Amino acid sequence: MRDLTLYDPFERMQFTDTNCFLCGTIITTEHRAPVFGEWLQQKYNLKQKELLMLDKSITTFGQLSIPCCDRCHTHYLMPLEHEVEQAAGKGLEGLQALPPQRLFQWIGKMYYGSLVTELIKEAAPLVMPQYAVSEDPAMLGKFRSFFQVLQSLRVPMEFSDFLPCSLFLLEVSPTEDELPFEYQDELKTMAFSIKLGPVAIICTLLDNGIIKKALGRLLQATEGKQLHPIQLAEFKARVFYAAYIFNVVPEYFIRPVKPEDDHLVLDTLIDDVTNEIFNPWEMPAYAHMLEEMLKPWSIREQQILQDPQRPLSFLLDDNNQFKPMERYEKIG
Ligand SMILES: [Zn+2]
Repeated sequence: MRDLTLYDPFERMQFTDTNCFLCGTIITTEHRAPVFGEWLQQKYNLKQKELLMLDKSITTFGQLSIPCCDRCHTHYLMPLEHEVEQAAGKGLEGLQALPPQRLFQWIGKMYYGSLVTELIKEAAPLVMPQYAVSEDPAMLGKFRSFFQVLQSLRVPMEFSDFLPCSLFLLEVSPTEDELPFEYQDELKTMAFSIKLGPVAIICTLLDNGIIKKALGRLLQATEGKQLHPIQLAEFKARVFYAAYIFNVVPEYFIRPVKPEDDHLVLDTLIDDVTNEIFNPWEMPAYAHMLEEMLKPWSIREQQILQDPQRPLSFLLDDNNQFKPMERYEKIG
């Protein structure tokens, strides 16, 4: 019989450098796995690239690693990295062909890696972060749900009729694309994006695909189109903002396991009776998010909200149709 037991580090807040992040096994401090796969670091020259942490400290992509036992490293993380590397080598098509659950696990591992680093730091006696993740019960509940589904990395798991995230795969037009690699994640809203050459993957974790459904019109309009980098930035702003106002946490339930079972089956439930799924859309808050994303083009909030009913868009025209853009011309 296969061991289908899940590990729950949240029960006793077991975030240390001597527990494998994935299975909890006691390890020594030399046993670690990189949060960003070696191939990724090499391909995009990330080793020395700086990364800003939640507590405003700075690390590098190369330095960020998580406690991980040899077994989880060899059996679960390395095959996953290898699969994604192969797929990414074939560009958009390759990544589209990858089972979405694998992409979820890959993104989830990087996201969780940053989170675990934060939680281990907060457990140190003298650290007093401005915002302590570990002291926010609602956030911890969310992370706990997330870790349950992330364990599909180790324990075979079938999600009955859902994917625990929304995935957006986009292609960027080469004409004015100067960034081979880009990375962004937001611990609290669980929004994530990574750009690998011409392909951008944007993901909102733990929304059961609801954000993707909600952005259906945008998806339809941009399907099969190459986006200018500024259009990608706007796309990200829309997804990240949706994650920001997303207001529910899915619950996951494991079906009873029979002795002959070789995997777990998970069902999900979203309580949309007690809570609205989305908080109301607030234009100034969205404009602020868009301004953040558009920083490289120095576009300010006033320009975005010149027509307060229709915020500036590089993606869609007044009829919600895609606006093709080859080159960006500075707006006045
Ligand atoms: Zn392990």
